[in-house]
Amino acid sequence: MNRLSRSEQLFQQAQRYLPGGVDSPVRAFKAVGGTPLFIKVGQGSRLYDEDGNEFIDYVCSWGPLILGHSPPRVVRATRKAVERGSSFGAPTELETTLARMVCEAVPSIEMVRFVSSGTEAAMSAIRLARAFTGRNKVVKFAGGYHGHSDGLLAKAGSGMATLSIPSSPGVPASLTSDTLVAAYNNLEEVEKLFTSFTPEIAAIIVEPIAGNMGVVPPRPGFLERLRSLTRESGALLIFDEVITGFRVAYGGAQELYNISPDLTCLGKIIGGGLPIGAYGGRKDIMEMVAPSGKVYQAGTLAGNPVAMTAGIETISVLREPRIYEKLEGKSSLLERGIIEAAGAAGVNIQLSRVGSMFTIFFTGGAVRDYGTAARADTELYAKFFHRMLSQGIYLPPSQFETSFVSSAHTDGDIQATVDAAGKSFTTLRALSRD
Ligand SMILES: *Cc1c(COP(=O)(O)O)cnc(C)c1O
Repeated sequence: MNRLSRSEQLFQQAQRYLPGGVDSPVRAFKAVGGTPLFIKVGQGSRLYDEDGNEFIDYVCSWGPLILGHSPPRVVRATRKAVERGSSFGAPTELETTLARMVCEAVPSIEMVRFVSSGTEAAMSAIRLARAFTGRNKVVKFAGGYHGHSDGLLAKAGSGMATLSIPSSPGVPASLTSDTLVAAYNNLEEVEKLFTSFTPEIAAIIVEPIAGNMGVVPPRPGFLERLRSLTRESGALLIFDEVITGFRVAYGGAQELYNISPDLTCLGKIIGGGLPIGAYGGRKDIMEMVAPSGKVYQAGTLAGNPVAMTAGIETISVLREPRIYEKLEGKSSLLERGIIEAAGAAGVNIQLSRVGSMFTIFFTGGAVRDYGTAARADTELYAKFFHRMLSQGIYLPPSQFETSFVSSAHTDGDIQATVDAAGKSFTTLRALSRD
């Protein structure tokens, strides 16, 4: 068992000054119970907390750290950048360099605008889609997350997919009334929405691989039909690749599935661990963004030279040969090990994985959308999480999140994780409900 006295003390102090003691809710461990670890150092695949405990990290800052913590090349360049000045509020060459790298990696992106978070990227892409089409309604999927802007904090209303309701107090129903919600992977529901609302639908926004209800891959044909439906109806297709961009392939999920959206949202990896977001796509659409067009969107720290530098260096490393094959190799090793360990212990899990993103769902049934993901036994997950944590493995503190393998994870890390999972599953067997 880890000693947590300093984390406990720091969490107490934090709660005096920060709501819930954190700056983003999932960090507070509410879904699994216990005290969040206060982190002191990250190095490679490892996290070190304030009590001196060491963990193999599969959160990786929720996705950005595909190279692991503090990769030397990124740290060196970022340090130099900050010495030259941390922000100018004026253009730098770095922005063009990163923009060119993004456009070359993702062919559907002809022009790009950098912002400071994924939330801003999705919010701005939707504003642009509405301006371009002259329509107001947006289709999203239940369990899909596109940041916390008002219009996207909507969930399916009871009974009908066509009535969405705000998923947070403080969001007026009037601001989600143009958001239509369908079940992920459910083309019937999407087609129904288009039958009823086509002249009003500006865009579909979708995580091409869902990552915010745990990992849920698209069924064959799902993304293809979203592409053809939007094309036929004059709506835009927006891929939210804030997680999947540069994660599942150098060109993101759109390279993996060979589908070209009109607009793409990026974030996380493209900032190399610093705050960033970006949206980009067809030139005729992007040219509507101010100042070349009339769609207003701005940011004091947008295109920040330190974040640009961390992004450029991270993406440069990702161009090295075989890096995605190696990530796939380690991730599939982990997948096989965990499935075998669960099988040997007689615990029902579904391991859902695309490349280096995965989720261990504690359910016997197939997971294809939010409804089926939500059948997972969250109490069993919480027990598994704490058993893993006590063996030095740091997983996401919620069943409905994505775990990430980085290039810094070694085969030894993977083996240690599989061994720990085996021990954890064995002690869970007695508690498993199905
Ligand atoms: C993380 C995430 C966002 C929001 O990005 P922030 O930088 O946290 O604002 C948007 N979309 C998806 C798919 C994400 O995973």
